[in-house]
Amino acid sequence: MKKGTNRVLHTISAMIFGCIALFISSIEVQAETQNSYIDFRFGQVSESNSQNNFANSATRIVVETSHIPEARLSLLDSPYRLVIDTTNSSWNMPNFPKSGKLSYGPITSWRYGNPTANTGRLVFELSEPAAPVAAFMLPPKQSDSARKPGYRIVIDISNRGKTAFALARSALKKTPYLATSKLDSALNEQADNTNFLKVEKKPEQNNNLQTGGKVVELKSPEMRPKRWVVTIDAGHGGKDPGAIGFSGTKEKEITFKASQRLAYHLNKSGRVIARLTREDDSFIKLRDRIAIARQHQADLFVSLHADAAPNAKANGISVFSLSDTASDKEAALIAERENKADLLGGPDLSIEDPLAANALLSMFQRESMNESTYIAKSILNQVRSLPGGDKRGHRFAGFAVLKSPDIPSVLVEMGFLTNKKDEANLKKDSYIDDLTKKIADAIIAYLNASLR
Ligand SMILES: [Zn+2]
Repeated sequence: MKKGTNRVLHTISAMIFGCIALFISSIEVQAETQNSYIDFRFGQVSESNSQNNFANSATRIVVETSHIPEARLSLLDSPYRLVIDTTNSSWNMPNFPKSGKLSYGPITSWRYGNPTANTGRLVFELSEPAAPVAAFMLPPKQSDSARKPGYRIVIDISNRGKTAFALARSALKKTPYLATSKLDSALNEQADNTNFLKVEKKPEQNNNLQTGGKVVELKSPEMRPKRWVVTIDAGHGGKDPGAIGFSGTKEKEITFKASQRLAYHLNKSGRVIARLTREDDSFIKLRDRIAIARQHQADLFVSLHADAAPNAKANGISVFSLSDTASDKEAALIAERENKADLLGGPDLSIEDPLAANALLSMFQRESMNESTYIAKSILNQVRSLPGGDKRGHRFAGFAVLKSPDIPSVLVEMGFLTNKKDEANLKKDSYIDDLTKKIADAIIAYLNASLR
């Protein structure tokens, strides 16, 4: 992708999400208002680039309401559904049926109903586990003169696998309200710039999706494999050797060897497709490692390391997950050192991380952090019998590489290269094989248990 385009997209999304965060925080309930659904339409957005780490592409749903909506999003399965509830809402699309079938991206049908007297519910049935990757609200479009434009609820959905769907469903259950907002027209047109495909008035005929009167050929999104996808990240690489061992062993070589063995064990299970962030000795920025996992549509991300400690006696296996505050000083130090890897790639000129400003994704991030603790525990259970043991336990710190908002992520410190015994173990193929087999078993145990 062209760099310039990336930068523009990045800037736009940062602006949009910055504003969303602002207006989501100012709640203004309008319970008295009789709201109504007045329009909906679909579009395709492509927001893939290594800087914003978005899903490759997403299906955009825009629902218009006559007044500022108080909207609640939820996800259901069997079959997969996206549900939008708005308070005090009715259906006001006289020429538009309350239900119908269509085929657009993962959306196979819609229906409208009133589960309670005060709730207007719009349900989209989905052919696959597509979950929201962004959601925001916009004021009425100023330029639309054909009819009175409505307030817009914009939701981008993307199939990032069953685990991401379950994660999003659970996060939305805990914090169900999308937003009720004081709307900011400044972000208006930039955010709604997709060429929308509008459902015609007889939507039961599938091919009648049009944009500006011209029939558009709809491309089906790529089907996700049936097996789980695990992205294995071999720490460091290229000009970044990582820690240097007691006898000169380079961390990047140990992590690479371990990533190959872990991939072998996961693939051999027949249940997982293992993907790697690097397949050779190349340097990859931490943020790009996350982007690669998102491109893989990974169910889980595991980063492998074998670090250094100022104290040569420090030894053993630790499993880290993301947290704002470190569990202990040593964890903070390790995260700080790991995060410095990016500096080797030159200064990072990108502006504010849009993921951090996307309210929906930060909600998922909390859920993802919870899930990551289960994986960490599962791994520690498995490695107990190894010489490295599990005594160092589960720790937390602000590792940049663990910041995928909807992919549970852990970092395994397989041992300390600054410890003589650990280094000797990590140099042995048989030890790496044992260790990675146990990590693979732990990952499969977690994935089995997490499919709720
Ligand atoms: Zn490392």
